[in-house]
Amino acid sequence: MKRLFWAIAIIAAVLVLFVWVQRELEFRAERLARPLPVELHPIVAEKSQELIRRAEAIGIDAAVTEGFRSIERQNELYAQGRTAPGGIVTYAEGGESYHNYGLAIDFALLDENGDAVWDIERDGNDNGERDWFEVAAIGKELGFEWGGDWERFRDYPHLQLTFGLSMRELKNGWRPEDTME
Ligand SMILES: [Zn+2]
Repeated sequence: MKRLFWAIAIIAAVLVLFVWVQRELEFRAERLARPLPVELHPIVAEKSQELIRRAEAIGIDAAVTEGFRSIERQNELYAQGRTAPGGIVTYAEGGESYHNYGLAIDFALLDENGDAVWDIERDGNDNGERDWFEVAAIGKELGFEWGGDWERFRDYPHLQLTFGLSMRELKNGWRPEDTME
């Protein structure tokens, strides 16, 4: 009797495990089949506008110069300074940047003529603080991670909203919506 009980218990456990693995594999296949985004995530787009508004409120004209980036464009940028002329502008290959998932933007300051300037020392609103760092601080308030804080390669224009997702998870098809349930 005891032996029968154990046999049934083990068979039940194996069945449960089997169903669970099957379901996990299905979820994984579903995630991997998800298409890549083709534009900025709506929350990132909204926060970018808020960034520009808040900067303007303290007398800083800033603009978003880059947002969503296709894999092809990312590969072109990656080639720059490696197999193509120019200086290195990124360490991320296609599919390795948060821009490719619509989760990153790049900003720049605007001068009196409305032209983008990449001058991190500029103090246009004349408050004794560098405008660039003021904009970055607003970005961080809004929940962005700032590339200027990175140790390996300081990417001063870069702001990304990860939703807690690692690059590996994004490549495996995880999306911000999965973290909001
Ligand atoms: Zn960037």
